[in-house]
Amino acid sequence: MAGQHARLSPSSAHRWLNCPGCIALCHDVESKPSTYAQEGTVAHDLAARCLRNGFDAKKYQAHWGWCNVAGASGVQSDRPNAGGAYVTEIDQEMIDAVQSYLDHVRALGGDAMHVETRFRVAEHLWGTVDCCIRDDLEGVLHVLDYKHGQGVIVEAEENPQLMIYALGAISATQVEGLYDQVRIHIVQPRAAQSDGAPKTWDIGTDELLRWRDEVLMPGAERALAEGAARQAGPWCRFCDGLHLCPEIEAEALASAQQTFAEVPADPAAEISLPAPTELPPGKLGRVLDFLALLEPWAKAVREHAYDRAHKGEQIPGHKLVRTQNRRSWSDKRKAEGALVGPLRSKAYKTDVVTPAQAEKALKAAGWSKDQIQEFLGDLVSTKQHTAVVPESDKRPALSTGADKFKTADLDAEDWLN
Ligand code: SF4
Repeated sequence: MAGQHARLSPSSAHRWLNCPGCIALCHDVESKPSTYAQEGTVAHDLAARCLRNGFDAKKYQAHWGWCNVAGASGVQSDRPNAGGAYVTEIDQEMIDAVQSYLDHVRALGGDAMHVETRFRVAEHLWGTVDCCIRDDLEGVLHVLDYKHGQGVIVEAEENPQLMIYALGAISATQVEGLYDQVRIHIVQPRAAQSDGAPKTWDIGTDELLRWRDEVLMPGAERALAEGAARQAGPWCRFCDGLHLCPEIEAEALASAQQTFAEVPADPAAEISLPAPTELPPGKLGRVLDFLALLEPWAKAVREHAYDRAHKGEQIPGHKLVRTQNRRSWSDKRKAEGALVGPLRSKAYKTDVVTPAQAEKALKAAGWSKDQIQEFLGDLVSTKQHTAVVPESDKRPALSTGADKFKTADLDAEDWLN
């Protein structure tokens, strides 16, 4: 396969199926993986290593993980020489998260396991399935995807990325025509706003193959066609071309004009924004839609301006300055070795584990579920978290009658998520 990344990558399938023109727009845009994405690459490497070798994640405690922009990654016991690569220490949080995935995979049993299997569905459309398991007795092909991220909760149902992985798993394991059912699993143990429990979705292989022929292939063809149309929507959030997309610019302008009727025609005139308390409910909804569009765009523009300023470009009215230095250990373990002599126990800060970590540790120590529940009982308090999201969100709406919620129970940040 030429190149490290597919032009039509499965992970952005939701975007290019909805906005075919994004492939052409992003063609020359340098894609820079975020720190979160790089941490996810290391966690995937760790998980694959454990599955292949039959280890638990704790085997790699205090090891170092690294990955580079070419897509290579590794785990080793001594701190790698970064040389431009991303390097991170494998901490307890990563070990716990990866172990949850390993436990889920291993509990499935099955007849044959394929780890990190490369596949190709069509020209320019290929990828790697984290894990697939053939269960000949049940006639089910399990397709597993590990998500290390915690900010965006990923659903298994009708997820095109996962459906492509399922197609890839069918072809890579050569079971087309042998299995009636594919079970897609997403394991996202650190997912915020959820209990991190794995999610599954079953789809018949006939239905999956029909989706490939009727939706995926025509969509892939549209995305590669010259002059493909662009369409803005929620999928724009992680688009590499967000900062230069004419659709976003037009949408933002139209949305601003609809939202703030008082936007003056003269672009030089000062814009005054209404106070949030003065917005009637209808307008509040429109402002929230506008912000959903504007916030990721503003972030992309800032990052892009920062890159250009760093390359020496002058941005009228702006300049690059030094900000406050943030100090950190260049080698944490070396620092630990040096500090433990003069500082002894003061070289460390300790904190009590979270309820989830306590549960896990007690379970590992042989406690039953009932014993753990009884023991933790009153020690744990559960806070109600809520957020205002678009109506299209799959979670059921809460009834917010005055008697159901006490505002004192809600954090302002809940409403800002
Ligand atoms: S920002 Fe949105 S509309 Fe523009 S190319 Fe990307 S996905 Fe398409």
